[in-house]
Parts: sequence; C-alpha cells; structure tokens
Amino acid sequence: MGARHVLIVEDERPIREMIAFGLKRAGFEVREAEDCLGARVAIADRRPDVLLVDWMLPDTSGLELTRALKRERETRDLPIIMLTARGEEHDMVLGLEVGADDYITKPFSPRELIARIKAVLRRADGAGHEELLESGGVRLDRAGHHVSIAGCGIALGPTEYRLLEFFMTHPDRVYSREQLLDRVWGGSVYVEERTIDVHIGRLRKALAGHGCDRLVQTVRGSGYRFSTRVET
Ligand code: CA
Repeated sequence: MGARHVLIVEDERPIREMIAFGLKRAGFEVREAEDCLGARVAIADRRPDVLLVDWMLPDTSGLELTRALKRERETRDLPIIMLTARGEEHDMVLGLEVGADDYITKPFSPRELIARIKAVLRRADGAGHEELLESGGVRLDRAGHHVSIAGCGIALGPTEYRLLEFFMTHPDRVYSREQLLDRVWGGSVYVEERTIDVHIGRLRKALAGHGCDRLVQTVRGSGYRFSTRVET
C-alpha cells in the first residue's frame, strides 16, 4: 500500500502547517484546505484516505461539513477526525452524532494525532473492502448481495439488507435513529424515525428463525447496536 493521503481542513495556517509537517514526517501524503469550499474542491479532485476537519472554519462549520459528507453516498465512508479547541463533552457528542469517526482536542501531540489516524484507517480498511462479512453466525456476501445463516439463505428486503450491512461493518457501537437515517437511508431522504423501528423489527424477524435476532440490540434511550456480545 502506498502512502496514505490526509486532507487537513483548517483555516489557521500555523496550526495547519504544523500538522502537515508532522504527518509528512510520519510518511503521510498531505494536502491542505483552509475552508469547507476548499475541502470540497480537494475531495472532488482526489478522495483522501482520511479527513482532518477543524470545528471552527470561516465559511461553514467543520461540524456542518462533516454532517454533509457523511450524508453523501460518495463520501459517507470517508473517515473523518474532528479537531477542536473545545473540550466539552457536549461538543464531542455532537461531533460523533453527525458521523465523525473520531475527535481530538487541541492542543494535541503529533504522536497522538498519528495514532488516531492509524486507528480510523484500520477501521476503514476493515469495513470498506471485505467482500465477505461474518459475525455471530451471520454471513453477508457483499458481491452477491446474499445473506445466510448456517448455510441457509435469508430473504431480506433492500433496506434490511443495507441496515445489516451497515451494522456488520460498524459492530459494537450504538447508533441513534437519526444516525442510522443519515448513514443507511442517506440524509436527503425524508423518513420518520419510527420507520427505522419497523425495519429493525423486520431484520430481527428475518434473523430470528436462526436465533441471530439477539445480534441486533436495542440500547434503551440511545438507539441500536449490532454485537455478538451478550446484551446487558
Ligand atoms: Ca479554525
């Protein structure tokens, strides 16, 4: 694999250059953008492997940029790490809610940033390229759009299939209904949050005959999670 390519979106030049310097030294290929518009142009020109987005930007906020990219089909799997001077829990939650893959608070060391980048890259590599997903006895063949349990094919509607695929590529993490709407349905579609419960119900029912419905777990007050661990 060649050098991984990082796009830094940060308007404060000294900070941007300091980050770029550290990343280049660590062997990353680096491009820089100073606002959301510049980031859009750079991404359209060539898709980076990771995006670092500052929260406070001169045109649109980094939060809005992250939300928008995570809603678009072409960029929804692009790993995003948000950079911010704010250290408040509330902001961290907001960043993760709009789909940021990780979050780092300024000031941070280059070493810490590089560790975070490597972690999201590992997750993205695992999630993005496997043709065959297997978890808890469920087998999902992405090339053939085929789901089976213990060798028996499972009939799923297209939405249930996408839900299951999303869950299997993002295990052990809780997603709110709003997040699932963004990530599975795409933000431009109007769907009531209640509709998600219906599709979750159908997915569970399809898996239930084979005892795999327990993999799709309800997290009270938060949303849903796919996990092979026992529900607590
Ligand atoms: Ca800034």
